[in-house]
Amino acid sequence: MTKQTLSFQAEVAQLLHLVTHSLYSNKEIFLRELISNASDACDKLRFEAINDGGLYENDPELKVKVMFDKDAKTLTITDNGIGMSTQEAIDHLGTIAKSGTKDFVSKLSGDQKADSQLIGQFGVGFYSGFIVADKITVESRRAGMKAEEGVRWISGGAGNFEVEAITRPERGTSIILHLNDDALDYASAWKLKSIINKYSDHISLPILMEKEEWKDGELINPSDEAGGRQPGAMVKTGEWETINKANAIWARAKKDVTQEQYDEFYKQISHDFEAPLAHTHNRVEGSTEYTQLLYIPGKAPMDLYNREKSAGVKLYVKRVFIMDDAEALLPTYLRFVKGVVDSADLPLNVSRELLQESRDVKAIREGCTKRVLGMLEDLAKNDKLPEVSADGVTDVQTAEEKAEAEKNVGKFTKFYKEFGAVLKEGLGEDYANKDRIAKLLRFASSTTDGVMVSFADYKARMKDGQEAIYYITADTLAAAKNSPQLEVFKKKGIEVLLMTDRVDEWALNYVHEFDGTPLQSVAKGAVDLGKLQDESEKKAAEEAAESFKPLLAKLKEALKDKAEDVRVTTRLVDSPACLVVQDNGMSTQLARMLKQAGQAAPDVKPVLEVNAEHALVKKLESSPSFNDLAHILFDQALLAEGGLPDDPAAYVRRVNALLV
Ligand code: ADP
Repeated sequence: MTKQTLSFQAEVAQLLHLVTHSLYSNKEIFLRELISNASDACDKLRFEAINDGGLYENDPELKVKVMFDKDAKTLTITDNGIGMSTQEAIDHLGTIAKSGTKDFVSKLSGDQKADSQLIGQFGVGFYSGFIVADKITVESRRAGMKAEEGVRWISGGAGNFEVEAITRPERGTSIILHLNDDALDYASAWKLKSIINKYSDHISLPILMEKEEWKDGELINPSDEAGGRQPGAMVKTGEWETINKANAIWARAKKDVTQEQYDEFYKQISHDFEAPLAHTHNRVEGSTEYTQLLYIPGKAPMDLYNREKSAGVKLYVKRVFIMDDAEALLPTYLRFVKGVVDSADLPLNVSRELLQESRDVKAIREGCTKRVLGMLEDLAKNDKLPEVSADGVTDVQTAEEKAEAEKNVGKFTKFYKEFGAVLKEGLGEDYANKDRIAKLLRFASSTTDGVMVSFADYKARMKDGQEAIYYITADTLAAAKNSPQLEVFKKKGIEVLLMTDRVDEWALNYVHEFDGTPLQSVAKGAVDLGKLQDESEKKAAEEAAESFKPLLAKLKEALKDKAEDVRVTTRLVDSPACLVVQDNGMSTQLARMLKQAGQAAPDVKPVLEVNAEHALVKKLESSPSFNDLAHILFDQALLAEGGLPDDPAAYVRRVNALLV
């Protein structure tokens, strides 16, 4: 093959432009990214070699070497991992395959400062080399291919790159960074070691650098010591030393791992810039043996709501990397969890299909789920500082404990904002842990002005005689808060939970009670406030229902295509009418959502409830435009809950006729 010049995919070119042009504040992450790629390449080799030991080519000790040459202004990262064929170099280094990175590119705003912040959060893998290099040469040969089938890839990071065939006896990849003038300080052993220690200690294979030692300069006058010497320098000795601990972090004892190392490992596997909210690290022994190191991130990825795609746990078997995103290790509603599971029992050649069926995996999944829920419970418990009791004593005693407690404040709130809606999926998905999940849920409330409340908070302050936990679902918080259905609850000072996540309606199908108290939608069934309702109110309502019978019959006739029934209600105070569904019916909101999503939804005909006390309703009977008013009443009730009349133009026509 002769030399050919190829163009980068448009997204890559865009990304590179940004990487090379931004005043990048955290330059050193390029080394983490490249070492991480080298480590992945070694993992891949180890994995492929399970079935084909020949791929080791008599060189089974996998390692990464970091070299620099001050004079040539280069920094080289070499691995003896899987390597790349020519086609792989073209495909992998010329296009962006990962949808996450694609999303990232599509998010770029053009504002250099904001965008470079984003890169920091993301890490852009191989391309981050261009933060410090104005040219990158990659030389590689895939394991198992012939020496002549090596490839050299060169790019200056602008629109295109060159590839040509080379002979490369040793398998694996060298990334040669031609450092730009602002990055020459990376050609220093001290600097490189400190970065490697910071980011790559936990990489499970050795990272080597050539030892240097100080050498005095030559005598200026060879025959006279007193004449002084040329300046001395550090020179390479030809001996290699391992810079990192080269010990998988999860395989170490907890006490040997610092918080900072845990955080760094998280950042490496998650490509997150921020530290995680919490982690759990355990060796589980018993009938199934495994080690788990799991993290709760502080920020949702962009594809969180894609139930198909994201799972964040890597599977290892006895330290050998098997696969990313092993979705069988955790239920789908915990897909935001990142981490590693290392099993001692699974076979090395386990496939995704086998995982689904394995009893060991089932035990691992249950164990991991319990741990994650435990972490969340701890976060929830520590979300606020313990209250000071009357005698001025808190649970937190020493200054250290206090500082520790302060660190945890607000973490659960943060978690919930990012992942609460996903956690709710667990109500339907994980029957065994439903109660634990329900305890972790938080909702807006009609009485707390923005403060999120749990079912337990709600229960603790229920009114005397109140028999249910009341809630309303709506598309938006404003619609929920101002819904006519809430009027009587407001009047009586009864708290109502406001549920506005899309998943709420579905999730609530699976919880009918909390800790013995039933959950009751305020928009379903006839309003029943039980003991909270005065006898006199009840009586008035019954009388109204009686005297309204003829009117209700007329309304029902007029609205027979729209309403299942028409009845008098006590739930309204200021509004003339509202819509409710039958006790077991699908809510109008859910039906609307399904329709919007293009799915078949049953045609729910709601019940129209009217407020017998309202002037408009009182006037209705004698009105010459009875029919129009009836329709307006219905359509307005629909509007009030965020819906749209079936025939908006007809609604406008009717209202206008009245206005005129
Ligand atoms: P990723 O997040 O997938 O690692 P990168 O941009 O860092 O994205 O790398 C793109 C692809 O290039 C990798 O997925 C891998 O296939 C290939 N690659 C990068 N570095 C190496 C390496 N040292 N050895 C083998 N393949 C590599």
